[in-house]
Amino acid sequence: MQFSPGISISGVFITFKIKYMQLTTNFTLQEFNCNDGTPVPADLIPNVQKLANNLQILRDHLGESIHVNSGYRTPAYNKKVGGKSLSQHLKGTAADITCKSKSPKQLAAIIEKLITAGKLKFGGMGIYPGFVHVDIRAGKARW
Ligand SMILES: [Zn+2]
Repeated sequence: MQFSPGISISGVFITFKIKYMQLTTNFTLQEFNCNDGTPVPADLIPNVQKLANNLQILRDHLGESIHVNSGYRTPAYNKKVGGKSLSQHLKGTAADITCKSKSPKQLAAIIEKLITAGKLKFGGMGIYPGFVHVDIRAGKARW
């Protein structure tokens, strides 16, 4: 790898800053990085911030930590894991989540209640055997 010292210094600084960005009380940007190690692209950080704001509300309600199995995905990684071509994960607007004390079905029921109450802004939600997918799309989608 070749780069000029000037670029490498500012590059390292920016990478460090973004890597450890605290988005909310309990969520860092790092938790939403692609599982292949790719950081969330800078232009998608506002999407991830909105997503994290909602996840924080859920976390506060549960009083329990939430694990993000999958947040942002690069197109290549999304393809590899069999994601839809227009997956919300590509835009940094989706997270696949779990929490220790609830099954995906139980967690989804709680999320649905909070959406109905106007506390969460998740448009999309899908229940899977090992996790719940939530996303902040504008329309409503359930599966
Ligand atoms: Zn998902």
